[in-house]
Amino acid sequence: MTEIKVEKTVSRGVAVAPRNVQQAIDETVEEVAEIFGQMEDEYMRERKADVLDIGKRFLIKCKKITVQDLASICEPVIIVARDLFPSDTVKMNPEYVKGIITEEGGITSHVSIMAKNYGIPALTGVAGILGKLEDGSTVCMDAAAGNIVLDPDAAVLQEFEKRKQEALKEQEELKKYRAMEAVTPEGKRISLCINVGNTEEMKLALDKNIDGVGLFRTEFLYMENTHFPTEEEQFAVYKEAAQLCPKEVTIRTLDIGGDKSLPYHEFEPEENPFLGWRAIRISLDMPDLFCTQLRAILRASAFGHIRIMFPMMISVEELVQAKEMVEKCKEELRKEQVTFDEDVEMGMMMETPASVLLAEDFAREADFFSIATNDLTQYILAVDRGNKRIASRYDSFHPAVWKAIAAIIRAGHKYNRKVGMCGELAGDVNAVSKLLELGLDEFSMSAGNIDYVRRMIIG
Ligand code: PEP
Ligand code: MG
Repeated sequence: MTEIKVEKTVSRGVAVAPRNVQQAIDETVEEVAEIFGQMEDEYMRERKADVLDIGKRFLIKCKKITVQDLASICEPVIIVARDLFPSDTVKMNPEYVKGIITEEGGITSHVSIMAKNYGIPALTGVAGILGKLEDGSTVCMDAAAGNIVLDPDAAVLQEFEKRKQEALKEQEELKKYRAMEAVTPEGKRISLCINVGNTEEMKLALDKNIDGVGLFRTEFLYMENTHFPTEEEQFAVYKEAAQLCPKEVTIRTLDIGGDKSLPYHEFEPEENPFLGWRAIRISLDMPDLFCTQLRAILRASAFGHIRIMFPMMISVEELVQAKEMVEKCKEELRKEQVTFDEDVEMGMMMETPASVLLAEDFAREADFFSIATNDLTQYILAVDRGNKRIASRYDSFHPAVWKAIAAIIRAGHKYNRKVGMCGELAGDVNAVSKLLELGLDEFSMSAGNIDYVRRMIIG
């Protein structure tokens, strides 16, 4: 099973062609058609239309699919695709998307996280499914059970419909916990927060009695753009986030590189992108880019309760350098007489083995920790989080990962730092009681998991 989720659905299926396959076929067909179109012999010139026609039929035959613009979907569907990228998912209307199945990706891939934010059942890493489907096929999926049935008969459809109704009933019952604060039976108040990639996702979760945003992934602002977003563009988004949520909004500085690229900036190809030029490394190496973001965050801090969080730290020097950049930006803003929160907290993601081993040193410098188990798992276990071939080895319940989690919490608490978790593990009901035992203070997760985790915490 590639996704732990308790929502179930039944829906008609729609398959979406991977953009790059379509483009490759289109470009080649046009190139060949143009050669015919330039020929002297009239008979041969007319063959251009044949080539175009063959190209069209080839595309349809080769994938047995309809190429769909996700923005045009206006009826309930299950999307089946090789993979979905932020630029695809941002266009779709979650109201109509009843489920998502992809051949690529794992539970920490963008598509899984996005689906959980919108409460859409998703299964990723389902190798070969595109070859078994035709556009318009009927598909049943139970994301919690990790089970898909193609062309189900009436009995199966009925069974899935029953499961769906049960899941909806459970979700309805869970809502009664929303009015309650997340307090453990021992009386500890836990902070229950959401992870988001934009303010739209925040709006969807505001009725869930959240204690704030534990992770605002700012990279989507960069990835869904045609240029590096300006200070004003970023300020508008962060300000809206601060105003939408009067409680803490933790803004993570840019985390591109690795599997996240930008359409308008060419990164040098790297042998090991996840070990390469990514996240804070880029920010520190491109001070202008970093300052633009920090100034926008600081300015927005005047409108709510914003915290700044740095990703991918491996040395205390990096943290000191990042904090110095914040000080430099603060100084500029003071000179410009622009208001901001002078006491804005600066914390860090705990997601590298180095940060675990140096947790006490970091705790002296950082205002708070957030354990980022998606990357922490991949780096502690040396297992690529997106490689479906080794997906079964990617295990956030591995004892080594839990030793790391325990060490981080111990170190943070020794210096009276609040320790949260914003990796997918925080939203996994099977992890909750153990994390509470270890003393985790804040659970931050995709909005779809909040109700389940609140119930577990209350006990
Ligand atoms: C993580 O690594 O656990 C995390 C929360 O960040 P991301 O998934 O964006 O890398
Ligand atoms: Mg990470």
